[in-house]
Amino acid sequence: MTKITCDICMDLMPLVKDGVASEYSENAVIKHISECKSCKKIYDEMYINNKSIIEDEDIPQAINIDKEAKKIEKKINTHLGMIIIFGIFFGLSLTASEEMFLNSFIMPIIGAFGYYLFRWKAAYIVPCIIVISNFIINGIGFLKRVEHLDISSMVMWGAIYSLFAIIGTIIAGLLHFGLRKE
Ligand SMILES: [Zn+2]
Repeated sequence: MTKITCDICMDLMPLVKDGVASEYSENAVIKHISECKSCKKIYDEMYINNKSIIEDEDIPQAINIDKEAKKIEKKINTHLGMIIIFGIFFGLSLTASEEMFLNSFIMPIIGAFGYYLFRWKAAYIVPCIIVISNFIINGIGFLKRVEHLDISSMVMWGAIYSLFAIIGTIIAGLLHFGLRKE
């Protein structure tokens, strides 16, 4: 949904009040007044002075639904972020084990989740997380003197996993665009 300025919001308010605004404009106004206190005040006052076609409960309800949706979205995003971090650490811990091939699925899926969260920025954000996590895991391994990758294999696997993740991001992005056009 496009954000509108206070000026545009005020221009659209009377149209919404009269029930002649397009659905798009109406949603834009509702969204704006759910975030902008000064416009909401004007909107509410306008409503008292001008009883209109819109039912009493329509607007508050729409705002509530919008708020609920935002809350749920935030929850999903937090969980997804944790899944990404956990997935990366899990995937990296498989390096040099027999289950390592799983990473050819895990990393693209993480890349796809990344697209959901960051859109195209995931193409560099996810590889960054992979490289940093890889560095942390092997750094700890080095300090604890337990099994860890040497620098060259660390760089190599970081690059390969990043590539897998980027492929996942690209696939998710293309699917997103493909589905939206239909
Ligand atoms: Zn405003």
